[in-house]
Amino acid sequence: MKEFETSFGLCREPSRDMLEKASARALGVGTSGLGKVAILRRSLDCRKGVCEYRFRIRAFVKGEEALEYDIPEYRDVADAMPVIVIGCGPAGLFASLRLIMEGIKPVILERGKDVHSRRRDCAGISRHGVIDPDSNYCYGEGGAGAFSDGKLFTRSTKRGDIREVLYQFVRFGADPDILIDAHPHIGSDVLPKVVENMRSCIIEHGGECHFNSKVTDLRSSGDGWTAVCADGTSYSSSDVILASGHSATEFYDLFAQRGWALSAKGFALGVRAEHKQSLIDGIQYRGRRDPQLPPAEYSLLTQVRGRGVFSFCMCPGGVIIPSSTSEGETVLNGMSDSRRSSRWANAGIVCSIEPGDIPGYGKYGPLELLEFQKNIERRMWNFSKSFKAPAQRMTDFCIGRLSRNLPATSYSPGVVCAPLHLMLPEQVADRLREALPLFGGKMKGFFNEDALLLAVESRTSSPVRILRDPVTFQSLSLPHVYPCGEGAGYSGGIVSSAIDGICAACAVAAEHHITRS
Ligand SMILES: Cc1cc2nc3c(=O)[nH]c(=O)nc-3n(C[C@H](O)[C@H](O)[C@H](O)COP(=O)(O)OP(=O)(O)OC[C@H]3O[C@@H](n4cnc5c(N)ncnc54)[C@H](O)[C@@H]3O)c2cc1C
Repeated sequence: MKEFETSFGLCREPSRDMLEKASARALGVGTSGLGKVAILRRSLDCRKGVCEYRFRIRAFVKGEEALEYDIPEYRDVADAMPVIVIGCGPAGLFASLRLIMEGIKPVILERGKDVHSRRRDCAGISRHGVIDPDSNYCYGEGGAGAFSDGKLFTRSTKRGDIREVLYQFVRFGADPDILIDAHPHIGSDVLPKVVENMRSCIIEHGGECHFNSKVTDLRSSGDGWTAVCADGTSYSSSDVILASGHSATEFYDLFAQRGWALSAKGFALGVRAEHKQSLIDGIQYRGRRDPQLPPAEYSLLTQVRGRGVFSFCMCPGGVIIPSSTSEGETVLNGMSDSRRSSRWANAGIVCSIEPGDIPGYGKYGPLELLEFQKNIERRMWNFSKSFKAPAQRMTDFCIGRLSRNLPATSYSPGVVCAPLHLMLPEQVADRLREALPLFGGKMKGFFNEDALLLAVESRTSSPVRILRDPVTFQSLSLPHVYPCGEGAGYSGGIVSSAIDGICAACAVAAEHHITRS
């Protein structure tokens, strides 16, 4: 067996013949002596002024055994031990699928609606300026991952096997290309169907999925826990997986009120920057135009006075969306479809903030950065008293001048001219002002007067951590409660949240000494 790298120029999908010839050459055998050939990874390389797709290939000599990833089978859990899973985002969904593999019955309680009903509610925010606090871009089946950009890469590979997540996505309908792409991406036109297929699998194997079931309390009950929903319904089980995401601040309040273990956690806050995609393509591909090249991405990072300023969740060919979860707060994020077909490129440009950085918030204890986050989101809302986002040209922001007018944007609720240089917290505004021209130095043309900044990008990750035991995954205060995913403060993004959910499910199985048969 040999793994090797090669390129076929700008060809994204080499033919079988091309692959076999390259593999036979690498192994030093004739094509008749060749066994299985698999592409492990595909990446676009434009570093040396020439763009080409590079492939990592694994090739076997005939007769050698090819190792493939083996996902455990789902079992019938209709009569098995139930475990409550709060939240149906990536962490809750992947935890539930894993529970089924382990022979445990997931009972999902999700405050929002099914993924298709959500679409209407999300559209209603832009069209009518009205938000449903239980069904929006963050809440409902699929969680914040369902109408997202659907980028599936994570820098954290320590906690679990990313392949389980990618193979499951493919099993439920994603393009198998995600198994080999260096920067896999699904898109918000495909993700809802994938999520729906996951739910069908959970129900077919005996799990339960209850929508419109917002959990408002968690009570210890004899030999386990009772989750009480807003409509008075309650569900009991010995163990609870808490995967409610980082927007469900009610859980942080509940934990803080009851004195259950929490700590403040650093996060990042800033703006969403938007350019024309053609400009970003021109910069990244050095003026080369080729229909085979995908909309270009970028990733920027610098340090300004001890804090990182960086691009976050870059969406090539995407749109900016209102990802608030209730009226009275302005929060932005980006999403794209599988073809990344819009003419816009957007990314968060954010500055990291650590506990203790913001004077005056220490009195909130573990909730200090959560209170700070809420305050900034309210400030942005109060400027327009609507989902219209406060915005400023990038160049005006850096010289501290209100923009007289604003360029076109993909953000459909609309924008209003605002002095973001004064509205953002000083610690953030000052650092962004230094970093943006530096980014312009790295990417010539990035810093220009048609680049638009919109505020606020604030839900980059959780500003609170629900403390848990690193081995058992159980809350330090609540035995048999497993906080996981982004809301617990242990992951950021779809893949790492899914992996964290899988780890929580495995921890439940280990606690009950359940072993896969
Ligand atoms: C617009 C947008 C674009 C994004 N793009 C990307 C991307 O391209 N790539 C990437 O990796 N990440 C992206 N993210 C981030 C990613 O979606 C999250 O990191 C991920 O969804 C976190 O998963 P989670 O399961 O921990 O939480 P969530 O996805 O937030 O899911 C939590 C679930 O819990 C439910 N819930 C909350 N409170 C309660 C309650 N009291 N009772 C019952 N249910 C409750 C919510 O309704 C929700 O469904 C994006 C996020 C947004 C908003």
